[in-house]
Amino acid sequence: MSSYLHELIHFVMGFTIVYFINVFVIKARHFYYCIYGGIIAVLPDIEKLIDSIFLHSMLVIPFASILLNIFISQLYKHNKYNFLTTYMISIMCLLSHILFDFLENGVALLYPLTKKEYEYAIFNQVDYILLVIFTLIIIFSFFSTVSSTVFKILSTCLLCYVIVLCISKQYLHMQLYQKYNSQHITLLETYPSSSETFCWNYQIRTLKTWYDGHSLLFGKLQEDSQFNNK
Ligand SMILES: [Zn+2]
Repeated sequence: MSSYLHELIHFVMGFTIVYFINVFVIKARHFYYCIYGGIIAVLPDIEKLIDSIFLHSMLVIPFASILLNIFISQLYKHNKYNFLTTYMISIMCLLSHILFDFLENGVALLYPLTKKEYEYAIFNQVDYILLVIFTLIIIFSFFSTVSSTVFKILSTCLLCYVIVLCISKQYLHMQLYQKYNSQHITLLETYPSSSETFCWNYQIRTLKTWYDGHSLLFGKLQEDSQFNNK
C-alpha cells in the first residue's frame, strides 16, 4: 500500500508542476498535460521494475527527455505545446522524482558514473502532509473559480513545511555533533521515524561506540541503545 502512495506522491508532484506552468506561464488549463506530467514523474520507478535506474540519474535525464518527447510527438500528433515546452516539462517532472527520492531515502544522482546514493532524508516513503497539500492543489485545479491566491497559499505551506524540516534536521545534527564530537564521529545518519510523526531517528558511530536514538522535531536527544564496536 505504502509503495502505491509513494507513487501517488510522485504523480501529484508531476501533475502540480505542469498545472503551475499552465496557469502561471502559459495561462491556459490543459489537464491532459497535467496527467502527462504526473505519468512522466512516475516513470523512473516503473523503469526500476526492470532493475534499471537510468531515469534516476541527473546525467541521463536531459537525453531521456529528448527520446521521450520524440516518442510522444509521434504518438500524439495534435500536441498543443511546442517541442521545447514538452521537453522542459519532461525534465522538470523527472527532476521532481529525483528530488523527492533525494529527500526520502537516497538516489544515485550520477549513475552510470557511480552507483553512490546521495540523500538528505527529511521525508518518509509516504509523507501524508505532502500528499494532502499536493492532492488539495489537484482538487482545486479542477475548479476554475478558485483563485490563484489559494495555490499561492498552498505552495507557501509546502515551502514552509520543507524549510521547517530542514532547519529541524540541521538542529539535530548540531546537537549530535555537540554531544559526540569529542568521541570522533565516523558515521552520522538521521532520518524521519517511520513509526512516529514529527520525530527523527539517528544512528551515530564513533571510534569506540555505536549509538541509536531519536528526537522529536526541535526536541532533546533520546538515546535508545548503545553498542561497542568490535
Ligand atoms: Zn524513485
